[in-house]
Amino acid sequence: MEGICPQCGSHYFGWSLDNPEKQKCEKCGGPLTIIRDGVIIPKETPPLQDNAPVKFLKVPPI
Ligand SMILES: [Zn+2]
Repeated sequence: MEGICPQCGSHYFGWSLDNPEKQKCEKCGGPLTIIRDGVIIPKETPPLQDNAPVKFLKVPPI
């Protein structure tokens, strides 16, 4: 488990990074990018809102 600060480049190691409270840089306080088994763990982001209003073509009544 690794954590990298994208802001200042600090590098952290340890399973404590599993704790969301530890996933921030001790130097600059920025959020860490978490890497587990060489894979960047995506941050939990709200799902993309895919409920944009659908535009229907208005067909004039024949
Ligand atoms: Zn930092």
